[in-house]
Amino acid sequence: PTANIGVVGLAVMGSNLARNLASREGNTVAVYNRSRSKTDELVAEHPEAGFVPAFSYEEFAASLQKPRTALIMVKAGGPTDAVIDELMNVFEPGDIIIDGGNALFTDTIRREKAVRERGFNFVGMGVSGGEEGALLGPSLMPGGPDEAWVTLGPILRSIAAVAEGEPCVTHIGHDGAGHFVKMVHNGIEYADMQLIAEAYDLIRRATGASPAEIADVFAEWNTGELESYLIEITAEVLRQVDAETGTPLVDVILDQAGAKGTGGWTVQTAIDLGVPVSGIAEAVFARSLSSHPEQRSISGALPGPDDSTGEHLTGADADAFIEQVRLALYASKIVAYSQGFDEIRAGAAHYDWSIDLGAVSKIWRAGCIIRAQFLNRIADAYEAEPDLAVLLTAPYFVDALTRAQDAWRNIVALAAAAGIPAPAFSSSLAYYDGLRARRLPAALIQGQRDFFGAHTYKRIDKDGTFHTLWSGDRTEVEAEDTH
Ligand code: NDP
Repeated sequence: PTANIGVVGLAVMGSNLARNLASREGNTVAVYNRSRSKTDELVAEHPEAGFVPAFSYEEFAASLQKPRTALIMVKAGGPTDAVIDELMNVFEPGDIIIDGGNALFTDTIRREKAVRERGFNFVGMGVSGGEEGALLGPSLMPGGPDEAWVTLGPILRSIAAVAEGEPCVTHIGHDGAGHFVKMVHNGIEYADMQLIAEAYDLIRRATGASPAEIADVFAEWNTGELESYLIEITAEVLRQVDAETGTPLVDVILDQAGAKGTGGWTVQTAIDLGVPVSGIAEAVFARSLSSHPEQRSISGALPGPDDSTGEHLTGADADAFIEQVRLALYASKIVAYSQGFDEIRAGAAHYDWSIDLGAVSKIWRAGCIIRAQFLNRIADAYEAEPDLAVLLTAPYFVDALTRAQDAWRNIVALAAAAGIPAPAFSSSLAYYDGLRARRLPAALIQGQRDFFGAHTYKRIDKDGTFHTLWSGDRTEVEAEDTH
């Protein structure tokens, strides 16, 4: 056997990761794909990689040094299970099987258990950065047992993206921890993209600026505290002119956003864990709303402000508005990341993973879609206080929110008055005010629940659980705690 690692599944992600692995000193990479053509093509196009091609699982196993290490990059779901079964037939106990596909973390927990019971090591690993990241350096989020990490750590460190000298990979935690963190990464990505889209829409509709002019605004923002990959590519997308019509490309793209489901998983999981990720949820639902033309076709029938006839802001007023949008975007972004990290915290507590939240924010600084300077501030916050219950209460973020406060409120109010939908901006602000509130109307909800369902309530002034005899003489009695 000549190879120290193998890759199964040679579509875009697998072939690029295989090339990335092969380009590192000391690696010899075995490659296998269900249909032979992909293997032949990859090997023929990249002689420099020195791949060891295999055309059956037996050949693949025979080409790997022990303990064998195989990275699966196939379609998530059933195909992953099928490949794991094949590998277990030809591998030996102690070998390492890594699933780098976009698996749902509960599937990873199930697979890890089943594979471990047969004596193999199983690592569910989140891979972010798309095609280019896979080739040049992704952000990697491996879960799985400590034993596998000993072998894998050096290999993964060598292929990961590098941020300020540090490789963007860390052992996240056991079994499904890596895929869980990757899932939340994607949820945050949804929120970040929606917030940027709302900022663009507000500026365009309020100032009448062209997409190219707004591209300049984003390019400028990218030199400051909003500096990030998503802001950078936004400027590029807005600047693009359609070759066929000569109009801005963004104006000819159908306004229905697609989704592959990981944002929805983040929200479903948050609901199960009881974590309010309202900004991420709004971003997921904004995509759903956009992609239901049968519902949107009634838009003409609904009354509301018509901004097409209104005056646009100009000169200093437009500049001031744009600065307010920037601050509102920054504040809402802090909320989205805070909610995402709170979900990771809650997931870690529920599934008994010991996740270093600061390390997670650091491995997202390069290679992945949400890479940004901003993540250093999150790492600082957890370094100062590892058990921080709500990320946005860290002093740095409180300062930022203090600065952004007035602008944030103003933009949400203006959007509402002008009839411009800004669901992620406004729900982020509502979440923030919910955290701030001394009293919440949840007290009234408890009263209602007790009225119709005898669900009982607690009091602020004494211990115990109480129920009011609503259909009787309305006196209060002590009750069993039924929640
Ligand atoms: P695809 O998700 O399109 O999967 C295609 C690959 O899966 C092919 O190699 C195909 O083999 C193989 N495959 C499908 N069914 C089976 C099966 N039953 N048995 C064996 N092999 C099978 O490829 P991508 O490269 O886009 O993605 C790979 C994984 O990486 C996915 O899980 C994806 O979610 C994840 N991912 C993708 C990212 C991206 O940006 N695209 C980013 C991060 C993760 P064959 O050639 O024989 O059909």
